[in-house]
Amino acid sequence: MPTLEIITIGTELLLGEIQDTNSTYIARTLRDHGIDIYRITTIGDNAGRIASVIKEALTRAEIVITTGGLGPTVDDPTREAVALATDRELTYQEDLWEVIQERFKLYGRAPTENNRRQAYIPKGAVKIENPVGTAPCFVVDLGNACVVSLPGVPSEMKFILHRSIIPFLHQKFELKTRIIKATVLHAASLGESAIDELIGDLEEYSNPTVGLLAHPGQVDIRVTAKAPSGEEAEALSKPVVQELLDRLGDNIYGRDEETLQDVIHGLLKDQGLSLGVVEYGLAGSLIEQIQASHPEHFKSFILDDEPEDLFLFENQVAEYARQLAVDVCLGVALIVEDNATLHIAFQKGDEHESVTRHYGGPQDHVLLWARNVSLDCLRRKLQLAHD
Ligand code: ATP
Ligand code: MG
Repeated sequence: MPTLEIITIGTELLLGEIQDTNSTYIARTLRDHGIDIYRITTIGDNAGRIASVIKEALTRAEIVITTGGLGPTVDDPTREAVALATDRELTYQEDLWEVIQERFKLYGRAPTENNRRQAYIPKGAVKIENPVGTAPCFVVDLGNACVVSLPGVPSEMKFILHRSIIPFLHQKFELKTRIIKATVLHAASLGESAIDELIGDLEEYSNPTVGLLAHPGQVDIRVTAKAPSGEEAEALSKPVVQELLDRLGDNIYGRDEETLQDVIHGLLKDQGLSLGVVEYGLAGSLIEQIQASHPEHFKSFILDDEPEDLFLFENQVAEYARQLAVDVCLGVALIVEDNATLHIAFQKGDEHESVTRHYGGPQDHVLLWARNVSLDCLRRKLQLAHD
């Protein structure tokens, strides 16, 4: 399996003026062709520094791809850098100059003497046609490794990558296309570190890999398998997904595109229950979220006054459940002072229960956290009743 390093070139990338999207695109595309990516480097427009990064990358990877710096100005140092890194001279290619002139004619413009720079490429480099721009691209084939230089303009880069570079790499490295299949399990009301404790050993696997992504009040567990076919990738993932489900039990509420509100909607529908939500401090956002996926048999009420304590809030919710005439009622009160406190009260017939949760994360995420925790609390109650 050949390994790849990507080097994106441009001082404007380093200054944060433009965002590097080329490397993500190349990484994502070539990964599916069985190429392992090791490193992505961004470097300014300086031939000496670029050359040393290319040289270093070649000590680790068989494929080095650069983007940018192929234009006609002195600021476009990639040609010189690749020549330096591969110990070759830059040589003038009359046929490239003709192609450049043709291209300019097509655009109704005349090339400048500067454009002639673009007709210089490292000695022995393979020219790659660029029918979508003026900057010629090239590949320096070093036998067991290669340096590929692509334009910086994303549309040009993509076009040439697909048209010329992928076929070239397939031929050179006899690549085997791999299918990548990801299954995502969603857990709520359980922190990243708690999940880590339960499944830490699975996170060391290499195929499939198991990774965690934490959101406020929710953690995604991603299982990613690579194999020559979708079926084989699925077969690799399946036992690991099952192991995760066994270990995490009802902490997992869904997978892939499934959302908490979808699951709640299904549970209410199956049990033929109507739902009421009494909300304080979430600016109506919980009600809105539920309403979007569960518009029928749903009633809601927004409290104007902060509930004094959890006990009183629980009684209030019981009262609203009667007034709204719903089978199940969820009361949620978010009180944000220094930290956030969330009271959740659940009422079903005469049965009631309540809990208080605290949040110490970033303020921007407090509403999302509160909604996820409340919805998961409701989901667990409905699931218990269902099983
Ligand atoms: P040109 O002939 O157009 O000058 P070039 O190969 O010299 O091509 P650059 O001058 O480095 O390319 O970049 C041209 C433009 O392409 C940049 O102004 C920027 O908008 C975009 N670009 C360059 N590198 C990247 C990158 N890594 N990710 C996204 N966009 C990029
Ligand atoms: Mg340029």
